[in-house]
This record gives sequence, structure tokens and C-alpha cells, in this order.
Amino acid sequence: MEKIQMTTPLVEMDGDEMTRIVWKMIKDELLLPFIDLKTEYYDLGLEYRNETNDQVTFDSAEATKKYGVAVKCATITPNAARMDEYDLKEMWKSPNGTIRAILDGTVFRAPIVVKGIEPYVGNWKKPITIARHAYGDVYKGVEMKVPGKGKAELVFTAEDGTEMRETIHDFDGEGIVQGMHNLNDSITSFAKSCFNYALETKQDLWFSTKDTISKKYDHTFKDIFQDIYDAEYADKFEAAGIEYFYTLIDDAVARVVRSDGGYIWACKNYDGDVMSDMIATAFGSLSMMTSVLVSPEGNYEYEAAHGTVQRHYYKYLNGEETSTNPIATIFAWSGALRKRGDLDGIEDLKVFADKLEEACIKTIEKGEMTGDLYLISTLENKKKLNTEEFIKAIRNTLDELMQ
Ligand code: NAP
Ligand code: MG
Repeated sequence: MEKIQMTTPLVEMDGDEMTRIVWKMIKDELLLPFIDLKTEYYDLGLEYRNETNDQVTFDSAEATKKYGVAVKCATITPNAARMDEYDLKEMWKSPNGTIRAILDGTVFRAPIVVKGIEPYVGNWKKPITIARHAYGDVYKGVEMKVPGKGKAELVFTAEDGTEMRETIHDFDGEGIVQGMHNLNDSITSFAKSCFNYALETKQDLWFSTKDTISKKYDHTFKDIFQDIYDAEYADKFEAAGIEYFYTLIDDAVARVVRSDGGYIWACKNYDGDVMSDMIATAFGSLSMMTSVLVSPEGNYEYEAAHGTVQRHYYKYLNGEETSTNPIATIFAWSGALRKRGDLDGIEDLKVFADKLEEACIKTIEKGEMTGDLYLISTLENKKKLNTEEFIKAIRNTLDELMQ
């Protein structure tokens, strides 16, 4: 069989621990035999980030702007324990945070639905995609512990020196305060990414905030979405037969639980963080969740939603058997390859991406799966495989599909 040729490289961001091991297995077993894989490689493993003073993370994000499509392995976000473990020069920031700040995008996360892994919410039939704004709010918050009696104020000083001032609270005793911000430009690109993604995937778009309580902050989100929708998207949505609707976040939660799925739910940064874990868990597992960062300029970064699976890695280092689920990481690759095929007009690459995903789903539906799925699958003939055996089983299914 001739290998599929690529014209533009993918930006490949390698990562840490168990997912780094799985990353190589996926390339060797599922990609390189079929594709003349072109990538521009960036090693975001913690050791090399430390060696380059994190420059490699910045470079990889810039490369994503240049080429348009990246695929990322899970990476360690250092904490105090990692400082010692890796003898770090500094507690480097989360690579995902750095990349998001450079690309300024929206993260779309959707569960991978397979037979045998039934959602806890019985009426969910189709995936629910969470669109998470990836800038600002509490993630760029400034906080203070108030030591005692006194007044906390919100002050804005314009360039010409004029001031706006609001009292936050007159404290009688100890307390806490927090200041956070967002930018109309970022909210605008969040809105556009959501509207575009809804059109691209032909799904309704829901958006929710708490604008009844947050009459300026959250209300600005609501207004920006509505203005952009009315001016640029209403006609396109109608033509595509899809709907945009806004509702309060607590109402949205109730509707989501009663729905049968099949739409995009746009959330502010914090809501999206929390709700995507809820949706993933309710659909079965974080290891069955795709994640893509879409920037307003149309750059795409595909990754898995879970972390580096540290506990499995230590078992692996001890020579013990592991059963780590590679599905979300494989779907990061298939998503990136499909997008590359799309942008470069390479039909074979798109077909391959579809078949790779089909092979994953078919293998699990045949009853071959990793331990995390084995625990929750309702299939009767299920079998628990180790990491390598499972990837080999997917390869067998893929070989059949590629004939
Ligand atoms: P994790 O990697 O998400 O794993 C937490 C637990 O979830 C695992 O111990 C495992 O449960 C289960 N799990 C997650 N993914 C799995 C998979 N693919 N297959 C099977 N089981 C899976 O979180 P963590 O171990 O707490 O964090 C490790 C590192 O990941 C941290 O340094 C964190 O900074 C980083 N992280 C990175 C990203 C990212 O790059 N996108 C996201 C989150 C966290 P059992 O142990 O019960 O089997
Ligand atoms: Mg989270």
C-alpha cells in the first residue's frame, strides 16, 4: 500500500509521562504505517521546557499560527512537588494556558459516544459539545486577603487621569476580595468562534451566563453575542436550519439534563471548566473526550482533555502492566489530520482520519477495551486489554477498514 502524502506539516507538541509513552505507540502503530507523516516537532516534555526556559512552548504556539493546525500531547503543569521531581529552574506556567493566551481561542470539548458506555443521563442520545471561553475572568484574577477593618474599592484610571470608582465593601473584619477582567475583543472572538463552529458542525448553539446578577460583566457577554449574531449570523443560521439561543446558566443546566444532546453549549471560562468535567463524567469518562482550541484567525490545536495519567506512568516505570486509554489522544491526531486534509485538499487524509476513528469505536464495540472502560461498559463479552494490546487491537480493526 502506498502511504498517504502530506503537503503542510502538522505542529506536533509532544508531552509528558504516560501520555508521552502512548503518543509514540500511536505514531508507530497507527499513523506511520499509513501516512508519510510530516510534522514540525516541539518537545513540550517538562525537561525540555525547563532546559529552554519554556521558550519551546512559545515557539510551538507561534508555529501553530504559521501552519494553522497543531496536535498536542498532555503535559505536566508544574506544582511544588514537580519542582523537586524535575529539579526545575522555575515553576513554569501551564503550557495550555500559554498556548491559549497566544492563540486567544475557544476550546470545544465533546464526548466520544460508543455502544456499551451509556451516559448516566438516560435521555442523552447525542454528544453535547462544551465551548469554553479560554481567556480571562477568574483565571486572570487578582486577589487579596483583607486583613481587617477598611474599605475595598474598584478604581479605573483612564489615560487622561480621570477616575471611575466603586466601593466593593466596607469591611468590619477580615475577608477576601477579587478583581477580574475580560476584553470585548476576546469576547467577540469567542462569539465568532462559537457561531462558526456551530455552522461548521451544523448544531444549535446555546449560550448561558448569570446576567441577572452580573448586570454589567455577564450582560456584556450576552450583548456582544446577540449583536454579532444579529449582524453577521442570523441569516446563515436560518439557512443551515440551526438555532442560537441565550438563557441563564441555571436554566441551561436544567435544560441540558432534560435534553437529548446534539448541540454546542457555550460557557464562560470558569463555567466551561466545571461543566466540561461534568459532561465528560456523565457521558462516561474524561478519557473519551475530544478537545480542540479554535482561534479567531482559524488556527486549530487538537488535544486530549485528560492529563498525563501520572499514576499509570509510575506503574509503567516499575515495569508493571498498564491499561491506559489512548482514545482521546488518537482523536486529537485524527482531528488534526482531518483538518490538515481539509485545508490542503487531501481527500485520502480525511478518509484516513474517519477510518482511524471508526476503528477505535468498532474495537470498543467489539468488546476490546482498556480498564477504565471495562469498569463501566455494559457489554457482555467485554475484555480488558493492556495499553499495548488495545492499540494493537485498534490496528487490526484499522487494517480491515483500510483494505
Ligand atoms: P489525569 O492525568 O487526568 O488522570 C487522573 C486519573 O484519571 C488517572 O489516575 C486515571 O484514573 C484516570 N485517567 C485519566 N486519563 C486516563 C486515560 N487516558 N486512561 C485511563 N485512565 C485515565 O490527572 P492527574 O494524574 O491528576 O494529572 C497528571 C498531570 O496531568 C498533572 O501534572 C497535570 O498538571 C496534568 N494535566 C495536564 C492536562 C493537559 O495537558 N491537557 C490536563 C489535566 C492535567 P486511575 O488512576 O483510577 O486509573
Ligand atoms: Mg477542569
